[in-house]
Amino acid sequence: MRNVHLWAHAPRKTPVRRSRVALRIGYSIPRIVLIACVAACAATLALLPQETLMAQSTATAANSQSTPTLTAAQLNESMLKLQRELLSKYGEGQKARIRTGLHQVVEFWRPEDGDAAVFENFVRTNFAGDQASLDTMFDRFQRMLEELDGHMHEISREFSAQQDLDLGPIQRYDEVFAGYDPSAHVIDDFFQNKLAFVVLLNFRLTTLEERINLGPKWTRREWAEARLAERFSKRIPAEVNLAIAQAAADSGSYIASYNIWMYHLVDDQGRRIFPPKMRLLSHWNLRDEIKADYADSANGLAKQRMIQQVMERIVTQSIPQVAIDDPHVDWNPFTNEVKPAAEQDSDAPARADLKITNAPEPDARYTTLLKDYRAARLADPYSPTAPTLIDRRFNEDREIPEERLRAMLEQVLTSPLVPQVAKLIEARLGRPLEPFDVWYSGFRAGNKYSEAELDAAVAKKYPTAEAYQKDIPNLLMKLGFAPERARYVASHIIVDPARGSGHAMGAQMRSESSHLRTRVEKNGMNYKGYNIAVHEMGHNVEQTFSLNDVDYTLLQGVPNTAFTEALAFVFQNQDLALLGLSSPDAQSEALKTLNDFWTTYEISGVALVDMAVWHWMYDHPEAKPEELRDATLQIAKDIWNRYYAPVFGKRDVVLLAIYSHMIDSFLYLPDYPIGHLIAFQVEEQMKKAGSIGPEFERMAKMGRVTPDLWMENATGKPVSADALLTATEDALKQVQAKQQ
Ligand SMILES: [Zn+2]
Repeated sequence: MRNVHLWAHAPRKTPVRRSRVALRIGYSIPRIVLIACVAACAATLALLPQETLMAQSTATAANSQSTPTLTAAQLNESMLKLQRELLSKYGEGQKARIRTGLHQVVEFWRPEDGDAAVFENFVRTNFAGDQASLDTMFDRFQRMLEELDGHMHEISREFSAQQDLDLGPIQRYDEVFAGYDPSAHVIDDFFQNKLAFVVLLNFRLTTLEERINLGPKWTRREWAEARLAERFSKRIPAEVNLAIAQAAADSGSYIASYNIWMYHLVDDQGRRIFPPKMRLLSHWNLRDEIKADYADSANGLAKQRMIQQVMERIVTQSIPQVAIDDPHVDWNPFTNEVKPAAEQDSDAPARADLKITNAPEPDARYTTLLKDYRAARLADPYSPTAPTLIDRRFNEDREIPEERLRAMLEQVLTSPLVPQVAKLIEARLGRPLEPFDVWYSGFRAGNKYSEAELDAAVAKKYPTAEAYQKDIPNLLMKLGFAPERARYVASHIIVDPARGSGHAMGAQMRSESSHLRTRVEKNGMNYKGYNIAVHEMGHNVEQTFSLNDVDYTLLQGVPNTAFTEALAFVFQNQDLALLGLSSPDAQSEALKTLNDFWTTYEISGVALVDMAVWHWMYDHPEAKPEELRDATLQIAKDIWNRYYAPVFGKRDVVLLAIYSHMIDSFLYLPDYPIGHLIAFQVEEQMKKAGSIGPEFERMAKMGRVTPDLWMENATGKPVSADALLTATEDALKQVQAKQQ
């Protein structure tokens, strides 16, 4: 049940591709959290980021011709004058604040913000030179920003209700309402009306290094001030945001139509081993088909080998262009031969201009990736404290330094447990590993209860969504929450009937509740819906504590979505116990752990490829698509050869570069393995603590500090791979003992 597929603040909802775009271009409200998780939505998770508000440096400020003149020299002169003036007014005690504040304002000031007189007047009026006025300012901004975030989120939630909830037909205008982002221009507005400058004049911007090294000693108020300032740490020009959004949209649509028609894959004997009409999106569906094929004892292996061949042709771009998303073409991925389809499984007519040749796809995969890179790079000059996309992802969004993250991935990849688990897989398969076995999915325990039994038990208990809502306090008490705390949390959760499978949508201000969207069929809730509801309820409980019980609303939330996912899985793992049934036994738990370990091993290599490719692009800014292709292949092979070839017995495999996220998600992949590590740490701590309730509340109230500091508070240790490795070692022993 860990399945930690993700971490991401999906800032809004639905069509998730769009929200990704919104995110990248710098959404203004950092944390509108909607969590639509569980199973199928791995692919849908948005990029996370506090990547937001971009900044403008003075170097580029001079661009605008139509505005009054204000030279850097004039600004500098004004700054020095003000520095002397404020110092004599407020005294030596304020010296550092005066200096920092002035520099921060100057850094972001553009000529259109006003001439030297406007600048000087602004500073004189808005510098809070004593503690009392600073306290007032802090409180006011905290309250106003909570109102702003909360109401913007409320609008978004209501505007997307028709689309999200089971409320009847969706009209075209409903989609437009759902797609509208009322907060899109907030940051621009705040620079224009100078509220952003008020913050920058009075509260210090911090670097990740400071947050990591000094953060543990900061007061909670200092943390809240750091988060306040951070909201205005970037001022990206609209045209740059647009260019990034365009690249994101283009790469998203390139990936969204990258389908393979499986019935039209033929082997050397001309056989079709996949069923008609099967159309798989790369890479998600292809990979999931490999996983499903372990259950097919007749053709599974042949199918898996064929899919691997298809994936390699996509990565190397030797795939014939006509074989992409076209049911009128038969393709042998081994010989690369293409022919007009000898059998039809689609009603769509063939394209009139369809010319069947095996001319390869012309490096479109790498052209698309290069366009992402070139667009992302446009923001670099406006982000002085994180001047590359790589910096922004690691230092701002994840808040885990790249080197530390890399070391954790390498710890998993080089663990002596890898060859041991590999051996176990070989024994279970009865054959040597093949490269596609990085997606081995056979660590499944038999179920104690049939799906029908579970469905019946759930439907009886929860015939309606209201029945579930009513039972929430009771469920929370079973999880160890005191009656009074259980009732308190339950009073902050509203259950809605979901149109899709279900999700949790937290609030952004304390006067609002969090929403649990769940699916209830006419004849009652089924087990699948219940399992999701329990997971989402975990999110709702976290959202309630981390908003309503955190000491400063500026710190509301968790460090990133991996943390809220970890907490939700703690709930989800208890779903059978909450039904009054017995929880999975030690053997099933052990198999699940081995599955998670193998998945983490696989995705860690994928993440390293993603990271190395972005570094290569930054090192080769003028690269051509074919050069990027060759570099990517080399990087994928090198990482394979180092960490996988020793257990797979085959070198130079390029499969690690197949993930579609690499092409459309701007360095998102490292989030996955870290999510697994965090889930294990939280779970280990829960086991240690014994009772979930009080421990859950204690963890969730920490709010949005750095991942390491949050984890220190939660478990006594920073984020690390140790918990996963320890659990895997125990699981191996359990499974091996059972086999003997
Ligand atoms: Zn979730």
